Amino acid sequence: MESKGFAIISPSSVRMRLWRVVGGCDSGGLVVRDGRDLESGAMEERLQHGATVEELQVVGSRLHYKKRSGNGPAMGWVSILAGGKRLLEEASEHDWPLLVQQEDLWALELSEEVYEVMRKKITEPRGKGKYNAFFPSYGHFRCAACATPLYSFQGKMKNGCGWAAFSRCLAMDFDESLASVVAQVDWVSGGREILCRSCGGHLGHVFMDGQCLGGDGPERHCVNSMALVYVEEETALNEVCCDLRRFHEQLRDHSNDGSYSGVMDASSIWQSPCKAMR
Ligand SMILES: [Zn+2]
Repeated sequence: MESKGFAIISPSSVRMRLWRVVGGCDSGGLVVRDGRDLESGAMEERLQHGATVEELQVVGSRLHYKKRSGNGPAMGWVSILAGGKRLLEEASEHDWPLLVQQEDLWALELSEEVYEVMRKKITEPRGKGKYNAFFPSYGHFRCAACATPLYSFQGKMKNGCGWAAFSRCLAMDFDESLASVVAQVDWVSGGREILCRSCGGHLGHVFMDGQCLGGDGPERHCVNSMALVYVEEETALNEVCCDLRRFHEQLRDHSNDGSYSGVMDASSIWQSPCKAMR
C-alpha cells in the first residue's frame, strides 16, 4: 500500500499513552479547559466522542492532552471521570486507526467532497453515488483517503438501497479481527457506523439484513461511493464480515451505565436482523 507519509503506529513506535474519548456523546462533547484547574477558561469547541488523544500529563482525574485524531481542540485539559462516569479510556496498541494524522491535514489532502463524507461523516444523497449501479466483473474498491483495499467486486450487492452495498469486506486472512472495515456505535443517528481500519475514515453503516436482501452473508455494508475508489487490479485478500468488536464493547459499556439512549435499540438489533433495517 502506498504510505502517503502517514505515521504508522506499531507497538515499538508508540512511546506515549493514548486515550480515546468514550463519553460526552449526550452532551455535545467533553469540555476542554486551557488549564488543569476546573475554574480555568473553557474553550468554545468541545472534544468529540471517538477522538484519540496523546497524554501529556495526568494530575488526579485531569488529563492534559494533545489531539491525535477526531474533532475538538488540538490541546487542552479534560476530565477523565465525571459524576462517576468514565469519559476517556486508554487506547490499546491494537486500536485503530492504524494510520493517524491531524484533522487539518486531512482537510488539505482530501477533496472537499471526500472530506465531507469521510471526516465529517456527511452521507451522500441517496441514488447519487457513482458506484451504486456499478457492478464490475473484476477488480476491487479501495479507501478514497488512504488507498487500503476494502471490498472486492464479488462482494457488491444488487440490493437497490440507494447506496453502494457490499456483503463482505477484505482482510489479510479469514479473520474478522483483521478485517479492513471496522464498526462502532453511531452516536448521532444510531446503528453501526463502518470505518476504514487503516485511516479511520467514515464509510457508511452496516446492517444485518444481508441475507434478506440477497447477500451471501449476514451483513450489508451501505457505503458512500465518495469513500471508495475502484481499481481494476485483482486482489489476493480474503473476504470476511467486518470487525464488530468495538461496537459490542461500546454497546455493553453504555447500555450498562445508561449513558447511551440513542436511536439504536440494543435489545432488538440482534434478535431479528431483517427487522433491524432503518
Ligand atoms: Zn482508509
